[in-house]
Amino acid sequence: MTCDFSSLAAPGVRTLQPYQPGKPESELRREYGLSHIVKLASNENPLGPSPKALVAVREALSEIARYPDGNGFSLKTALSSRLNVPITALTLGNGSNDVLELVARAFLTPAHEAVFSEHAFAVYPIVTQAVGAIARIAKANAPDHAMPHGHDLAAMLALITDRTRVIFIANPNNPTGTWLRTLELQSFLEAVPEQVLVVVDEAYFEYVEADSDCPNTLRWFDRFPNLIVTRTFSKAYGLAGLRVGYAVSQPPVADLLNRVRQPFNVNSLALAAATAALDDAEHLERGRALNRAGMNQLQEACRCFGLSWLPSVGNFLCVNVGRSGRELFLALLKQGVIARPVDNYGLPHSLRISIGTEAENARLIEVLGNVLKE
Ligand SMILES: *Cc1c(COP(=O)(O)O)cnc(C)c1O
Repeated sequence: MTCDFSSLAAPGVRTLQPYQPGKPESELRREYGLSHIVKLASNENPLGPSPKALVAVREALSEIARYPDGNGFSLKTALSSRLNVPITALTLGNGSNDVLELVARAFLTPAHEAVFSEHAFAVYPIVTQAVGAIARIAKANAPDHAMPHGHDLAAMLALITDRTRVIFIANPNNPTGTWLRTLELQSFLEAVPEQVLVVVDEAYFEYVEADSDCPNTLRWFDRFPNLIVTRTFSKAYGLAGLRVGYAVSQPPVADLLNRVRQPFNVNSLALAAATAALDDAEHLERGRALNRAGMNQLQEACRCFGLSWLPSVGNFLCVNVGRSGRELFLALLKQGVIARPVDNYGLPHSLRISIGTEAENARLIEVLGNVLKE
């Protein structure tokens, strides 16, 4: 008799569908024996990290026999002065994914509900279900809306009940790229009852252009005590492999998040790199400029191919490819180009393409053009 461990798992865990990451380059190399591979599947920074971050990592290497600073003092001090919030408002995480999980562990139970949107970032359902809480999923905007497939805040508000503890909002959202404008998000925050925590996930904040009217949610830091803003060093800062992100909330909320945090959840190399990266505005700006140019390059190609796409203020574009996105993904893979199918996000005819360097984008465009003709 072998034991059915599945029947022993917590109910939420038993039926949990794990997160599906972008396909790693090394895996494609192993499977197909390809040498030239372009990965545009995980919204990473094609420029890599700041050289200052690399220097800091090299210096920190000599100390890896020691535990990291469990309070992340240097990084928190730098963030606190950069963001103009108290140190006690900060919670560091092993990626912002970690922080999202801390929110679920601190505030959700099987008796409680979390609200988020259809097509929203896949980590929200996972962290909700893992703690046995109930997910209430709001219908997204219709395809003919000005912000197609974006979050419908009225629909989200309508799902709030006495059992709701957390609302997850990605702004801009991944994988759609769509965003909420300043006034609509403000009205929403005003309408949400104070005992419901609102997580605004700003993983792409550094890429957002001012003219998009996609707000810096921290502007309301003092106004809404139930607000939790999360950000990351994985995207614009080019440190995805080191895993470091953070939450900003009022200190009483941060205190609760820090209680469920592992004592050394952010490693010493990540702490050193993130602190140094914050100091390199020039590198960040180079990444933003590259992203703007690449976004134009990709949109122009899509226009030529007769493909439509969703509005995006991130470093990726969700393109309607007019056929099975997964099949197109596989066809691109064979040519050494990794994009991201988003059928698991309820978008079976789309592909999410990260903006790469000019050469990487050109390769994607060339291969995409060939595959579309077949
Ligand atoms: C990439 C991403 C994150 C976080 O990633 P980490 O690497 O865990 O910081 C969070 N939210 C959204 C919407 C993302 O796209």
